Amino acid sequence: MVNVLFDALLGDRRDTAAPFLHLPDGELISYRAFCELVSRYANALVSQGVKPGDRVTAQAEKSPDSLALYFATIAAGAIYSPLNTDYTATELEYFIQDAEPSLVICLPLRERDVSMIARKVGAAVATLGADGSGSLGDAAKGQGSTFVPAPRGEDDLAAILYTSGTTGRSKGAMLSHGNLLSNAATLRKAWAFTEHDVLLHALPIFHAHGLFVANNTVALAGGSMIFHPRFLVDDVIRDLPAATSFMGIPTFYIRLLADARLTRELVADMRLFVSGSAPLLSETHLEFERCTAHRILERYGMTETTMITSNPYNGDRKAGTVGRPLPGISVRVCDAETSKELAPGEIGVLEVAGPNVFKGYWRMPEKTASEFRADGYFVTGDLARIDADGYITLVGRTKDLIISGGYNVYPKEIELLVDELDSGVESAVIGVPHLDFGEAVVAVVVVDSNKITAADSLMPLLKGKIAKFKQPKRYFIEESLPRNSMGKVQKKLLREKYLNCFT
Ligand code: AMP
Repeated sequence: MVNVLFDALLGDRRDTAAPFLHLPDGELISYRAFCELVSRYANALVSQGVKPGDRVTAQAEKSPDSLALYFATIAAGAIYSPLNTDYTATELEYFIQDAEPSLVICLPLRERDVSMIARKVGAAVATLGADGSGSLGDAAKGQGSTFVPAPRGEDDLAAILYTSGTTGRSKGAMLSHGNLLSNAATLRKAWAFTEHDVLLHALPIFHAHGLFVANNTVALAGGSMIFHPRFLVDDVIRDLPAATSFMGIPTFYIRLLADARLTRELVADMRLFVSGSAPLLSETHLEFERCTAHRILERYGMTETTMITSNPYNGDRKAGTVGRPLPGISVRVCDAETSKELAPGEIGVLEVAGPNVFKGYWRMPEKTASEFRADGYFVTGDLARIDADGYITLVGRTKDLIISGGYNVYPKEIELLVDELDSGVESAVIGVPHLDFGEAVVAVVVVDSNKITAADSLMPLLKGKIAKFKQPKRYFIEESLPRNSMGKVQKKLLREKYLNCFT
């Protein structure tokens, strides 16, 4: 009996003393010790009533224990649904009600709020702290260190990751064992990962980038990771000399470049720097090469598909492009309306097909149907152009998405909240260039002038209501919003007007 994803990633390594995690305090966790930890968590999940096919929703700090929880959920045959640690209790309610998990794992400080929400869907609640404390951590400590993985096939679901919806409603992207394993195998080969690799892991593990691209690829190769709880420039600079590879969002590279300690000597033993999740400016790419003699390898993907394209490991890494389709994955650039394939060089919407493409949106068959073409291609919503060498450049998005610090923010969700404010009349939320975050969230608002005169006084009003990365970094008051003849707000004009508000 097989468990497709678990067997491939960890199954063969249960008895190896090779290192898997290097922790900042110097502790080293071998594959054997990590697999024992995973087994303890898997036994704890089963003892809490988790069965194959159940959802396990987790909002947990990044730690060896929360990483073990991910693998344990897969081993138990359940479906892992991680949530951004920044989400407020109000935001959690939607995800829990939508996923209907049998178990919710939350930060100890959220236990009361989450219990009230979980009760409505009949889910059990357990807590997990960063240091492995909490009721789930305690339960795991008392469990046996072996576990027989539940049988799971290629098409069985391994994870549901939520992506923000254009209407403000998040959609759960269903990823199967086959989806995740195929992408890990493709990336291991494309980026030449081996058991000698040491990946400096500073990404969050509630997002596909840190959770799948980093962890799955390294585990499949039998390599190890220097596992940082979060990205901090000092810690990354300290540990880069011990690493062979690094994965980051553009913000990480911009922050590293701002530090004089980033030199050629510091990264002389590195073999690979990967960037993705948001556009890497050509200037950043060139500046990084000038400073370190390394050319960042930029790749492109999304939650629904994991990785789609990559610049080559061997070969020309073209700044400003996201490279070519990965092996086994087909892409085409089509007219957004007619779906007619366009000629090379023309701009259209990027469509993708391959073993990496997800199984659809959780409990949203109509939404799923509307985002797939009849021949099975998934419509990414990204606007792209393919050059004569097959390299893809992303030029924009058909959807109104903002990517701030690597996280997606859908304006509609923020606009609804701003409009509800006592002083608010209407608003348009836009993304504008920001040196550190790539794009920053800005709200242009029309307000009741009897109640509010200064834009700054709006700043605190969304605090605590939505995750920090979604909160507008600036507000601007306008008498009215620019609209076209169809009444649609012309965000393009607002983006032009506030283009330089952070520079
Ligand atoms: P997510 O689902 O959070 O991974 O976000 C996916 C979106 O991030 C894609 O649809 C793209 O718009 C964007 N994205 C990912 N990688 C890149 C990249 N290398 N350059 C530009 N945009 C990217």
